[in-house]
Amino acid sequence: MELKSHYDYVIVGAGLFGATFARRATDAGYTCLVIERRNHIAGNVYTQLVDGINVHRYGAHIFHTSDRRVWDFVNSLIPFNRYTNCPVAQAPDGKLYNLPFNMNTFYQMWGTKTPAEAIARLEEQRNEAVAAMKADGITEPRNLREQALALIGRDIFRQLIEGYTEKQWGRPCESLPAFIIKRLPVRLTFDNNYFNDIYQGIPEGGYTRLVEQLLYGADMLLDTDFFDQREHWMSMCDKLVYTGPIDRYYGYRYGHLEYRTVRFETETLDTPNYQGNAVVNYTSADVPYTRIIEHKHFETFGRAVYDNPVTIISREYSTEWAPGMEPYYPVNDERNTQVYDQYRHLAEKEQNVIFGGRLARYRYYDMAPVIAEALEIPL
Ligand code: FAD
Ligand code: UDP
Repeated sequence: MELKSHYDYVIVGAGLFGATFARRATDAGYTCLVIERRNHIAGNVYTQLVDGINVHRYGAHIFHTSDRRVWDFVNSLIPFNRYTNCPVAQAPDGKLYNLPFNMNTFYQMWGTKTPAEAIARLEEQRNEAVAAMKADGITEPRNLREQALALIGRDIFRQLIEGYTEKQWGRPCESLPAFIIKRLPVRLTFDNNYFNDIYQGIPEGGYTRLVEQLLYGADMLLDTDFFDQREHWMSMCDKLVYTGPIDRYYGYRYGHLEYRTVRFETETLDTPNYQGNAVVNYTSADVPYTRIIEHKHFETFGRAVYDNPVTIISREYSTEWAPGMEPYYPVNDERNTQVYDQYRHLAEKEQNVIFGGRLARYRYYDMAPVIAEALEIPL
């Protein structure tokens, strides 16, 4: 590609933040050069077509939002399908349960058939947990275990929460913050939709097509790490948009930020339908992976599942991050928050650098808020 000698914006990272920013800036008449370290666009929402199936290469991504403006924006670029996330959990007792915790789950767990019956069982178990805490002089849940027991009781905690959470975070529930579990909805309706948002779906043809639309009209360089020629890229532009890890931008001067990472074991199976659902969680501590994703169910429904004789699955293993691995989940504990705040102070003083997205803001952002942020930031 023939590069220009100067750009209004050099954008580091072709993920959702960088690409959305590029779309806006290009539409407003600015010139953009996007540089991306990986050999493909789309960051962590990258999907790759394999055997007729769009594989979510960096983990399952379900778009959900209640922000009408963001939903209209993405749908103006590419149609979204009607996928609704309804994960199923395989528990240590060998049974399958619907998620999130709702009337179906309570029926499967206790045989309760009406909201009144379910409330009675929940109350009984909650009261037992609160009484046990009181006996120990505890008034407010101090950690995830106490929060979960007070919210949903021991049966669901043991079957659906304890093993999964300890695998996902690599720490016992007693040493995890309560807030992680607070956002899991408890529903007294027969509603298996995992999210509470108004809009939900997957882009038809995969997320990579969405990002292609976002990047249209911008110049693009793949396999290019910004830090290999930092001064060169800075000298080429009026403003830099940086979406990589913020600690790296500042040479780790206040130390490394920590992450959790995920290892994906992906395989093609000679069967049209392996598990009958896109997402099956394995909540037992004895199963080493947290969940299995079957990618075709994100985009084919009903009989159409059988049109393709093969299927592709990914087992997800949650592991501790070490430098050199892909940073996935920020660990928003006290130490990391303090380190991040020091970097944030430096970033706020920059005149010609915009920091955006999940890694530069060190925040566990879903896709829709990342797009919203990129749509709002002044050009
Ligand atoms: P990224 O996608 O990480 O993009 C940053 C880009 O910058 C990357 O391509 C990177 O290679 C590049 N880069 C970094 N450093 C450099 C450098 N030095 N030089 C050049 N390029 C560089 N959100 C949802 O809404 N729903 C979901 O179901 C969902 N599931 C998820 C599952 C997993 C396992 C993970 C990890 C995240 C999930 N998310 C989900 C969140 C979603 O992935 C993010 O909100 C979104 O991808 C963030 O986009 P971004 O542009 O900020 O970051
Ligand atoms: N969780 C659980 N059992 C499950 C699914 C989730 O206990 O089957 C808990 C777990 O502690 C997890 C939290 O709920 O960290 C949030 O899960 P969710 O899937 O919403 O978050 P994500 O992994 O997408 O960030």
